Amino acid sequence: MKLLATARFADTVVRLSQLNRGNPDGLPEVAFVGRSNAGKSSCINLVCNRRRLAFSSRTPGRTQALNLFAVGPDGEGVQPTGFLVDSPGYGFATASPEAKRSWQTLAGEYLRSRVPLAGVVLMIDIRRELTDLDRQLLSWTPTVLPLIVVITKADKLGRNVAREALRRVARDPALAGREGPVLLHLFSTLNRTGADLLPLAVESLLVSTAADWAALAARADPASPLLLAPFSPAAPTDNGSQHP
Ligand code: GDP
Repeated sequence: MKLLATARFADTVVRLSQLNRGNPDGLPEVAFVGRSNAGKSSCINLVCNRRRLAFSSRTPGRTQALNLFAVGPDGEGVQPTGFLVDSPGYGFATASPEAKRSWQTLAGEYLRSRVPLAGVVLMIDIRRELTDLDRQLLSWTPTVLPLIVVITKADKLGRNVAREALRRVARDPALAGREGPVLLHLFSTLNRTGADLLPLAVESLLVSTAADWAALAARADPASPLLLAPFSPAAPTDNGSQHP
């Protein structure tokens, strides 16, 4: 079975200090982030092959929380391979200043300081491309950390226009200036564009024997993935984290 298809709910935390409760051994974590309505929960559910693992962040006022999903071996006394971490959607026009502050504290601190963080998956709607809030989020994400940019709802545009959007996003200084590996690709839950590539790219962040991004990109539809800098899985370090 594919690794992400083993995903199951592990914990919900509203404070960073609670993270070690769900992941006491510091196993690698991959964070999923994006504006509300970008298609993050639809994407997580598709790549994990589950109908309702992640919930839509569309309801304003929903508690700002990080949801942890364990992947890999399951059972009493057995260590999972790592965790997918679903971060609250941002960018509600109607969000209260308090909700915005709470998002900045939780998501910002998580991205800035979380040692087991092995990589980040940023979801952006193809019709909006990168917004200032996405750039702010990227500025919190250590620049060496592997980054996958998933350009969602690719079915909304024609193939050539979608490709142009992909290339425009890749040129944005917020991405072009990063030091670590960056993979961008088109995605659609409707026609499954990128649905085979994404779980494998995430898996490579969690498993040292997985394929590297260059190999995955070579196997994928040549129109979609764009590799700004490749990522190769490495033997985990002492704290379980694999990023440089
Ligand atoms: P979230 O707030 O980021 O979790 O976004 P959701 O996953 O709830 O998706 C927001 C809306 O976009 C929903 O109405 C989805 O049905 C729609 N949506 C999500 N992914 C796609 C996609 O790939 N194509 C299209 N056309 N619509 C999508």
